[in-house]
Amino acid sequence: MDSLSVIRKTGADLRVAPNFADYAGECRAFTWDRARAGLSGLPGGGINIAHEAVERHAAGFLRDKAAFRFLSRNAPARDVSFGELSTLAGRFANVLGQLGIAKGERVFVLAGRIPELYVAVLGSLRHGAVVCPLFSAFGPEPIATRVNLGEGRVLVTTDLLYERKVAQWRDKMPTLEHVLLVSEEGNTTNIPGTLDLATLMAAASATCAPAATSAEDMALLHFTSGTTGTPKGAVHGHGAVVTHHATGYYALDLHADDIYWCTADPGWVTGMSYGVIAPLLHGVTSIIDREEFDVERWYGILQDEGVTVWYTAPTAIRMLMKCGADIPRKYRFPNLRFIASVGEPLNPEAVRWGKNVLGLPIHDNWWQTETGGIMIANTPAFDIKPGSMGRPLPGIDAAIVRHLEDGSVTVIEEPDVEGELALKRGWPSMFRGYLNNAERYRKCFSGDWYLTGDLAKRDADGYFWFVGRADDVIKSAGHLIGPFEVESALMEHPAVAEAGVIGKPDPVVGEIVKAFVSLKTGFADSEELRRELLGHARKRLGAAVAPKEIAFLPTLPRTRSGKIMRRLLKARELGLPEGDTSTLEAGG
Ligand code: ATP
Ligand code: MG
Repeated sequence: MDSLSVIRKTGADLRVAPNFADYAGECRAFTWDRARAGLSGLPGGGINIAHEAVERHAAGFLRDKAAFRFLSRNAPARDVSFGELSTLAGRFANVLGQLGIAKGERVFVLAGRIPELYVAVLGSLRHGAVVCPLFSAFGPEPIATRVNLGEGRVLVTTDLLYERKVAQWRDKMPTLEHVLLVSEEGNTTNIPGTLDLATLMAAASATCAPAATSAEDMALLHFTSGTTGTPKGAVHGHGAVVTHHATGYYALDLHADDIYWCTADPGWVTGMSYGVIAPLLHGVTSIIDREEFDVERWYGILQDEGVTVWYTAPTAIRMLMKCGADIPRKYRFPNLRFIASVGEPLNPEAVRWGKNVLGLPIHDNWWQTETGGIMIANTPAFDIKPGSMGRPLPGIDAAIVRHLEDGSVTVIEEPDVEGELALKRGWPSMFRGYLNNAERYRKCFSGDWYLTGDLAKRDADGYFWFVGRADDVIKSAGHLIGPFEVESALMEHPAVAEAGVIGKPDPVVGEIVKAFVSLKTGFADSEELRRELLGHARKRLGAAVAPKEIAFLPTLPRTRSGKIMRRLLKARELGLPEGDTSTLEAGG
C-alpha cells in the first residue's frame, strides 16, 4: 500500500467531537455488558427493540422531535415525531393483538418507503411479532417463496402492490391469514380477503405495553441479498439492538442533533438496522425519501435537508460518479460531516471522489445480513487507507483464518496474508439461525469462529482489506486473484463507471480473468478503448492478474440492493442456467 495515498485525518476534519477517538483504549475498555447498560431495558427485565427505539424517547424530552422526515415528489415533506410514532406503533400493535397474532409470529411488510411501513415494523416489534421486510420491487414468486419459508401470518402492503403481486398467488400462501392494506390507489375497502389498515388503526387504542421479549426472542427475519445464490433467511433476536446502538455510536458517529440519511431500502438489512433502528435509538432525525435514485434529487436532498451524516452504498456512489462532477458543483453541502458506505467493496477511486467532489472522503464499512450490524469500519477520527474496509469496532474480534485438513481453522497471525474473514462469536446481533436450514447454519461455524465466506487480509496496522467472496475468487496459473483488485484498477481509468470481473475456465491456466465494463456518460465503446483498458490494467496489475478479455455492457447485472452479480456474468458467459434471479434488478 502506497502510504502517500493514505487519507490522513486531523482535527480540522472533525466538525464535531467524534464518539470514537481512541481506538486502542476504547477497544480495551469495551464490554457488551457496558454497551447494554446504555439502553434502558424493559421495566420487568428483558429487551425490546421498539421500546428502545421509540418508547424511551416518546416518554421523554424527545417526544416532539421529528424521528422521520418523509420526502416524496408529489407531496410536501411529512415529519413524524417520536411521540406520534409511538402512538401509531401502539395502535398497530393493538391491531395485531385483535387479530390474534401471538409473540414470535411473522409479519411481512411489502411497501415502498411510506410512513405506514415504519409504523408496522415498530408496532410489530412492540407486539413481540417478528418482522420480515420484503423489497417492494419483488415479483409475485419471490414474495410467495419468502412468505412460505417464513410462515407469514400477516402481510402489510398497499392496494396497488397487492393487486399486482399478491392477489393471484394468495392461495399458494397457506399460512397467510391477514392482509392489511394501505391505500395507494384509494381501493382498500373492497378487495376480498384483505382489511383496510387505516380503519383498523382508527379503532385501535394507542396504549400498548411492549411485549415481554428477551434478547433471544426472534425479532427480525432478513433474507440475504442473493448475490451468490438462493437468498437465506437470517434470524435475529431483540438483543441485536445492543449492536445497533453501539455501532450507531462508533461507526456512524451519530450525535443527537444529526440529520441522518440512510439510502438503503428497509427491504434489506441495512435499511432496517441503520435506516430504522439505529438512528431512532440515538434520537436522531432521519430523512426517508420515497423516490428512486435520481442524481439531481439526491444532491438536492443532501443540500436542502442539511444532511449531516449520510450512509449509502458503492453502487449509488458509482452512479453519482458516472454522471460527472459538473452536477454536484451546482450544490453546496456545508452541513455534511460524515459519509459512510456498505454493501460491496468501495473502490479507492470512489473514496477519493468523495473527497474531491463532496469535500469528504467516503468511509467504507463491512458487515453482512448474518452479522446484523456493522463489524469493521472506517470512522471519522481515523486515517483512511482507500480500498480498506477499516478496522474492527470495539467488541468485535475479527481475524483472518486458514482452513486445516481436519475441518478446523487456525488464525493467521502474520499480516498481509489472504484467508477467510472470521468473527469470534459473542456479539449480540449475530444471527441465530438460517430459517429451516440448521445444517447450513452449523457449517458457518468452526469452534468459536463464525466464518463469513469472504476472503480478506489484515495489514500490520490492523486494517482489513477485502479480497473477494470465496465463491468469486479466480484461480489463474497458480495465482489467486480477487475480483475487487482488478475492478478497482479498471475504475481508475477515466472512461470506466463500473467493472465486474469473473474467472472464465481455460484449459491451460485454469481460469482467465475476464472483465465486464460499463462506461461513464460521454464515452463510447470501441476496439481502441478496449485495447487501452487492457493496457491500463496490465500496467497497474501486471500481466498475471490483469484481465485477458474485456467486454462492454451498458450496465452490469446487480441485485436490487445494488451488488454486482458476478455469478450471473459468469453463467451468461458460459451459457449456464442463471440460478435464483429473484433479487436481480429489473433490466439486469
Ligand atoms: P448472499 O449471501 O445471498 O449471496 P450477500 O452476501 O450479498 O448475498 P448481504 O448479507 O446483503 O448478502 O451482503 C453481505 C456481503 O456483501 C458480504 O459478505 C460481502 O461479500 C459484501 N460486502 C458488504 N460490505 C462490504 C464491504 N464494505 N466491502 C466488501 N464487501 C462487502
Ligand atoms: Mg452472503
